[in-house]
Amino acid sequence: MEKALADFQSLAKQLLADEKVNPMAEFIPAEELFDRLDLSLNEEGIDDETHLEKLKELIIATPRTATNAFFNQLYGGRNEKAVLGELLAVLLNNSMYTYKAAGPQIGVEKAVIQKVVDIIGWGENAGGAFATGGSMTNFMSMLMARDAANGKIRFQGVQQKMTVYTSIESHYSIPKNASFSGIGRDNVRYIPVNKVGEMNPEDLDKAIAKDINDGFTPVLVNATAGTTVLGAFDNVEQISAVCQKYNVWMHVDGAYCGSVIFSEKYKHFLKGLEHVNSFSFNAHKMIGTPLTCSMIFVKDKKHLRDSFANEAEYLFQTDEDEFNLGKTSLQCGRRNDALKFWTFWKSVGTKGLEKLVDHQFALADTARDYIKNHPDYTFYSFDDSISVCFNYKKVSPQKLCTALYEKEKLMVSHGTFQENDFVRFVTINGQNKHEDILAFFKTLEAFVDENYNELVASKSIGETCE
Ligand SMILES: *Cc1c(COP(=O)(O)O)cnc(C)c1O
Repeated sequence: MEKALADFQSLAKQLLADEKVNPMAEFIPAEELFDRLDLSLNEEGIDDETHLEKLKELIIATPRTATNAFFNQLYGGRNEKAVLGELLAVLLNNSMYTYKAAGPQIGVEKAVIQKVVDIIGWGENAGGAFATGGSMTNFMSMLMARDAANGKIRFQGVQQKMTVYTSIESHYSIPKNASFSGIGRDNVRYIPVNKVGEMNPEDLDKAIAKDINDGFTPVLVNATAGTTVLGAFDNVEQISAVCQKYNVWMHVDGAYCGSVIFSEKYKHFLKGLEHVNSFSFNAHKMIGTPLTCSMIFVKDKKHLRDSFANEAEYLFQTDEDEFNLGKTSLQCGRRNDALKFWTFWKSVGTKGLEKLVDHQFALADTARDYIKNHPDYTFYSFDDSISVCFNYKKVSPQKLCTALYEKEKLMVSHGTFQENDFVRFVTINGQNKHEDILAFFKTLEAFVDENYNELVASKSIGETCE
């Protein structure tokens, strides 16, 4: 094992040194990948030195998500303390289903969940669970909502017409989860949004009333805290009033920006959270832990057991269910995603989490100020968001983002809101400084100015974002 750890150190050192000089990895077109890199698996193995050489080639060629050139998705940076926790979790390799198999790591997970519940202020019946991502925590919310509406479904399957509600700007996991849960994609109602991308509560009310009239059972309203493109916050308070009126489960998908709960300055975006049934967020987004670190919280933890507990005599042999977290999980074997968050949180305190969140909003303010003061930009998004959407000199955003990637300048993606296509720049990497944000614009401008004719020549449809 010592040799493997020494190899890791050596590879890590080389990667970090190379990232300093080259914030972007070399661009390899997908169709050339298997010619450019030796990814073959063969009958015979190779000697350790060649093996190390192959690994080095591979990591050097891999897209860099921790540098100040990566703004492509809703994560980025390399949170050192969290990486340390993650490496230890790999070394320890516990499975988080039982106290017997994970011991104090169960306490780590419980401590994280309890502290978040305390911060939300949900009281002693509240609980939570980790899952493999925000799509899966949304799935858990839908299953709990479905089972809360009709406890027989666990046994008999879905036999009634059920509906779920989410805004047209919400994450694509909602329709996927509707198909997984037996509710059905056709029974997802997409509620219109206002000018700033927030779900319209009156339209929600009307949609629910109509469905009830048509013989459907509404089971879930999904509100979003940080929509994937604009970073908009649905109005939790107003939506929760509609949910209470019709007695429908309300979930808040905070995968992107739910971490505002840690900030005195920004937690008001989630005003009304005390009225909802469940809430989820990804620490691998705003908190910057390694992927993945996703949690769901429920105001009444009985729903976790109602939907996810199963007896398994071969597995759950000792200790109370409170310490056998497999009883409240989608999974059986489950990696330890809590330790990285705990390691970081323990180091910086809740005040450190708050500082990190506030810094991302400050970086977004810097980006917005810059754009608003430079007439060559068109601005599309809104204050109070860490997504900053714009176009530069009317260049097609699809074309620009693809060219910046292929020419190894910047990784940034584009999005669409109500007929407009634009570059979506996210200030989610809390390790960036204000200079890094300004450097992004300088790099983009220099690139456009050098390649202007090529960029405006013809339009192409680029990749989509998450
Ligand atoms: C990222 C995101 C998700 C999905 O989370 P994963 O961890 O990528 O599965 C869900 N909802 C929103 C609003 C997101 O931004």
